[in-house]
Amino acid sequence: MGAGLAGLAAALHLSERPGTEVVLHEATARAGGRCWSFHDSALDRVIDNGNHLVLSGNAEVLDHCRRIGTSGLLAIAPRAELPFLDLETGARWSLRLPASLGELLRGGLRLPPGTPLSLGPDAARLMRAGPDATVAQAIPGRGPAWTRIWEPLSLAVLNAPPDHAAAAPLAEVLRRTVLRGGTASRPVTMPRGLGPTLVDPALARLAERGIRPNYRRPLTGLAQKGDRLHALRFGTEEITLGPGDAAILALPPDALGRLLDGPVPGPGQSILNAHFRVPPALAERLPPILGLISSLSHWLFRRDDVLSVTVSAAESCAGPRPDRDATLERIWREVARAAGTDAPPLAARLIRARAATADASPAGRRARPSTRPMANLALAGDWLAAPLPETIEAALISGRAAAEALDG
Ligand SMILES: Cc1cc2nc3c(=O)[nH]c(=O)nc-3n(C[C@H](O)[C@H](O)[C@H](O)COP(=O)(O)OP(=O)(O)OC[C@H]3O[C@@H](n4cnc5c(N)ncnc54)[C@H](O)[C@@H]3O)c2cc1C
Repeated sequence: MGAGLAGLAAALHLSERPGTEVVLHEATARAGGRCWSFHDSALDRVIDNGNHLVLSGNAEVLDHCRRIGTSGLLAIAPRAELPFLDLETGARWSLRLPASLGELLRGGLRLPPGTPLSLGPDAARLMRAGPDATVAQAIPGRGPAWTRIWEPLSLAVLNAPPDHAAAAPLAEVLRRTVLRGGTASRPVTMPRGLGPTLVDPALARLAERGIRPNYRRPLTGLAQKGDRLHALRFGTEEITLGPGDAAILALPPDALGRLLDGPVPGPGQSILNAHFRVPPALAERLPPILGLISSLSHWLFRRDDVLSVTVSAAESCAGPRPDRDATLERIWREVARAAGTDAPPLAARLIRARAATADASPAGRRARPSTRPMANLALAGDWLAAPLPETIEAALISGRAAAEALDG
């Protein structure tokens, strides 16, 4: 149940098992969940619902793309380097990690100005943080390393401000990427879009195996007998499970909370994505990804002639109900400053992804159910791949883990 990335990954893994018949049910009219591409009429371009960044250390993403034949669609940056611009001061810098000791010795490490001295101790504190600590509690200093590294990282990775977000998931991401060096920290983007890279080819693989999602079919209830899932309800229809049958629920927390007793985290913050179509010559002035500091805009992605800006933790950063036109206008002013133009964009679109992730606080992280609530039922979803935060990598890991849990 659920044709987001977690459900698609589970279905793909199960469909490789001889003798297993897989049926996929999805509440909406499309697959991909929070990760999708569509033709936007205002821009007249195919865009993603929001910028998605993964890193080369996200092994599960790379494996998913290999399985569905889209490794060639991933743009893996040659180096672990991200440029930044402080829109208040105009300062520019790069964050760059060397891939090897040799590169380190040749000066391959670049850190934001003013940060090198505190970074090591800060990182060590973050790694030692317990499950109840927020990022702000784990890292006490408030110097340049805070504003130029830790605060932007917390917003980008956890979609929550550092005084709210649990430290442990951020530490886990760093363990799997940055602490493994430049090779595992290269930015990976999907220039053809999320749908064509992660979702549509997965659906095609499943279709080759005779599996087509049943769309507009929300699961509405479960029946349990003893320690087993006995039946699934879809409105008035009930499907009784046989002795060899099992189910995976790859659903967001609110949907799961309506079906099963037990704790689920509340909603986290929204993410705003502002998309601007601009003349190609203007787009070319900008790098593929630019981190922005001292601004409402956090990240600027360039894809052909579309510039897309992410504002994470939107309630904290833009207010609970930001006015659409005023927000677009403000973000465009920031983009225009970064690109050095006075001209307006050719077209613009603002997309708000409500509750883009679940509550990222330590209490929210604790409110996770067991992923195996019944003998023949496993749970998946990005929010269930602890200790990781809610990301594509986590969704895919959780889908595979659920399929493996039902093995045998
Ligand atoms: C704007 C935005 C930006 C993001 N940026 C990044 C990023 O930069 N990097 C990154 O790695 N991740 C990012 N993410 C997170 C990433 O998109 C998610 O982690 C991932 O898509 C979650 O997949 P999922 O399958 O776990 O959940 P979902 O995508 O939520 O899928 C759940 C599916 O279940 C379906 N469903 C719900 N209820 C029912 C029901 N009762 N019956 C049947 N089906 C049901 C839903 O319709 C949905 O299709 C971002 C997310 C957003 C919204």
